[in-house]
Amino acid sequence: MTEKYIYPFQKGDGKNKALLGGKGANLCEMTQIGLNVPPGFVITTKACRDYLDNHQLPEGLLKDVKAHIAEVEARTGKKFGDRHNPLLVSVRSGSAISMPGMMDTILNLGLNVQTLAGLIEQTGDARFAYDAYRRFIQLFGKVALGIDDEKFDLHFAAIKKQAGVKADVSLDADHLRQISELFLQVVLEETGKPFPEDVYEQLELAIKAVFNSWMGKRAVDYRREFHITPNIANGTAVNVVAMVFGNMGNDCATGVGFTRNPGTGVNEMYGEYLVNAQGEDVVAGIRTPKPVQELAHEMPDLYQQLVELRNKLEAHYKEVQDYEYTIERGILYCLQTRNGKMNAPAMVRSSVDMMAEGLISKEHALLRINPELLEQLLHPQLDPDHKAQPVAQGLPASPGAAFGKCVFDADTAELMGRAGEMVILLREETKPEDIHGFFAAQGILTSRGGKTSHAAVVARGMGKACIAGAEDIKIDVRAHQAIIGDLHIREGDIITLDGSTGLIYLGKIATIEPSFFEELKTLLAWADEFADLKVYANVDTPERARLAVSYGATGIGLCRTERMFNAADRLPLVIDMILAGSTEARRQALEKLFPIQREDFKQLFEAMSPYPVTVRLLDPPMHEFLPGEHQLEDEIKSLNLYKVMIQGQQVTLDTLGLQASLPAPFTHLNEEVINKAIAKKELMLTKVKELYEVNPMLGHRGVRLGMSYPEIYQMQIRSILEAAALCTQQGIPILPEIMVPQVITAQELIKVKIFVEEIQHEVECRYGIALEFKFGTMIETVRACTRAGELAKVAEFFSFGTNDLTQATFSFSREDAENKFLPLYNETGLLEDNPFEVLDAKGVGQLMKMTIEAGRFTRPDIKIGICGEHGGHPQSIRFCHHIKLDYVSCSAPRIPIARLAAAHAKLLEDDYRLS
Ligand code: PEP
Ligand code: MG
Repeated sequence: MTEKYIYPFQKGDGKNKALLGGKGANLCEMTQIGLNVPPGFVITTKACRDYLDNHQLPEGLLKDVKAHIAEVEARTGKKFGDRHNPLLVSVRSGSAISMPGMMDTILNLGLNVQTLAGLIEQTGDARFAYDAYRRFIQLFGKVALGIDDEKFDLHFAAIKKQAGVKADVSLDADHLRQISELFLQVVLEETGKPFPEDVYEQLELAIKAVFNSWMGKRAVDYRREFHITPNIANGTAVNVVAMVFGNMGNDCATGVGFTRNPGTGVNEMYGEYLVNAQGEDVVAGIRTPKPVQELAHEMPDLYQQLVELRNKLEAHYKEVQDYEYTIERGILYCLQTRNGKMNAPAMVRSSVDMMAEGLISKEHALLRINPELLEQLLHPQLDPDHKAQPVAQGLPASPGAAFGKCVFDADTAELMGRAGEMVILLREETKPEDIHGFFAAQGILTSRGGKTSHAAVVARGMGKACIAGAEDIKIDVRAHQAIIGDLHIREGDIITLDGSTGLIYLGKIATIEPSFFEELKTLLAWADEFADLKVYANVDTPERARLAVSYGATGIGLCRTERMFNAADRLPLVIDMILAGSTEARRQALEKLFPIQREDFKQLFEAMSPYPVTVRLLDPPMHEFLPGEHQLEDEIKSLNLYKVMIQGQQVTLDTLGLQASLPAPFTHLNEEVINKAIAKKELMLTKVKELYEVNPMLGHRGVRLGMSYPEIYQMQIRSILEAAALCTQQGIPILPEIMVPQVITAQELIKVKIFVEEIQHEVECRYGIALEFKFGTMIETVRACTRAGELAKVAEFFSFGTNDLTQATFSFSREDAENKFLPLYNETGLLEDNPFEVLDAKGVGQLMKMTIEAGRFTRPDIKIGICGEHGGHPQSIRFCHHIKLDYVSCSAPRIPIARLAAAHAKLLEDDYRLS
């Protein structure tokens, strides 16, 4: 045989998981570092592939197996198939990556009528031997001979009933002997042949069965689900290992452990064990295992050995290990180890501790944590032990968990929120005018829209849970109820949202609050030491800015000013501005907004001092600030109706339940008041109709508004520069940046720049100071990418708005794509990823590269960043590092993720270039 298909544990390369499988490689490695592993050998994954290709075991394999069994015999002093001192083995599957429970394993192989007698002789324990035998016949029967488990279980249950016992452990040797005999009978009946007595025949059938289980339905489905391609794992290895028994008496035990506490990361002995038991008893939960600390009293010497085993495992693997062991007659054997799966706090804490203990380097401490895992840390989470079943599911639009009473409009949300109630706002979709409802609500649920719908973007910015596009829910705002099939959820009913999964539950599920703990701060400070990319925040309020700084943001990369327009004290002024019939009237409305905006910016600059704050001039189309057409029509209809009803009487708004539809000063109604209200609503309706656009996202928005209504941009620029002047006067170090959205030509920028220079001149004269700030543009249209060289003549910075740029490059909108065809595209591989989540390096990324090259050619020191949602996504951040952006900007809760991802990007940059 030319190919080497078998490696004994003393010889196999512990790093070669592709060839030996994860379990086999670890058994080799543990043996070679001197841990007490039962003797055995690995049959390679290549042997599996050859077997599956040729439908027969590779030539000479069985001969080789025999030679290796002989070696195991020599090491154990037992003999395979021997009447007096039999060697029993386990035959275990194990591919390159762990696929728990997907493939088959057989224990106690080597038992037959002869060796059974030997085992009884060897152990002096007939009960133990028959127990091992009946387990082996059933497992072998199922795995190697394809017999249904049920056939065995029926007999087992019948004997238990006959014996009048409830628990398996109450069966005595005679019962187990009877069961074994019945099981042998089952095999004869089901296969037409007696149970194989030849132990090598048993071994051959078992090896083939394990190989075959690689192509079993369970394993194939699992690989498809988790995208395990042949380059990740190709075939299963077979581990043949001498059996050791934890159930041979009270000097035997079996247990599982973690080298650190997987719930907290604390460096302590952690695990459970059972005296006189088999491994599967611990896992199956038949008996309650004891905490490992008790072993210190029960078997002090073995406890000490276990501590040493644990220390050796960590010192060697430099990773928290999840291990299994057995104590057979006072001797400790390590049966398995693998990297431990832990929650986010435990990963962070163990990273920091292992670095402090000198076990791992800083780089390793950072790289062992998947940045996305940190998401868990900054949002409330559902209590992991909850048992509730979801009633519906939508898109996970903004992570975190929240519960509260259902409300169906923003005003009620605000009223109830003020009264101290927890509320969840349910809408078909939200609009900027609902913003006060967002402030008051714990979470937002919409039945329409995607992950970039208004609700999703605003909720993410605020760090609130949001589920969008839950299309199975019919939201009836007028009846104040939501309907899911037969279920009616009414105002005041409590629901819980899990914005991380999109699942919706009826009733309250407790949540666990996030915390930014010391170890996380330490870890992220290390990340900053390595990262080239700076991490900025997309925030719009001083509170969120302070939060972002506390998470480690070193600037604001995007302040969407329209969010400020939506606050309760400004929206009426903004509406007046939109309704204004002339430039002069618009200027007057803007005059009222000016001091408010100036104060907003001043507070924002102060909160971020001394870091840069990028303020984007108004971006969304104007109609977004007005109520919808249907809503206005309904309100006008109602008002006309009320006018008829009251017939000149004084009626309070409350009696009519009209609180929401008229401005606050009107506490009493008379015809005059109603007429005024109708007139205003009609004016709004006319305006809404006038502003109607077929494609609002491609319409009159962004800098185009600034060109049509320069006075809006001028007011905003003045607010920014005066706020800057006030801060400078007070000695507060600041770095404002004025950013223009939706730019397509340098001419637009030049025009805005002129406004800026004029206002700058005025402000500098008035305040007697020189202002320091930058002027730049968003790059979110394809044309901006193609004209970057020209834009850079005017702009001192570029910020990629990859939300719009992705939409423009793909020519489809996120909402339509995600709700209609994108899942199909992803499932069938037409597109690898959702480009709105994962930056499309091949398309959008090429435009970015081109833009950067042209921009830096014109202006070598131009500052370039990204403020689209991709700025908080690790894989996209790696690309941003690769194309040498200066910063990424993301919502506050993603800042820690982005900081860690930026460090990963740097530490793994060579791999990226090669990939
Ligand atoms: C973008 O388009 O990427 C962007 C940040 O702007 P907005 O999401 O506000 O349109
Ligand atoms: Mg945009």
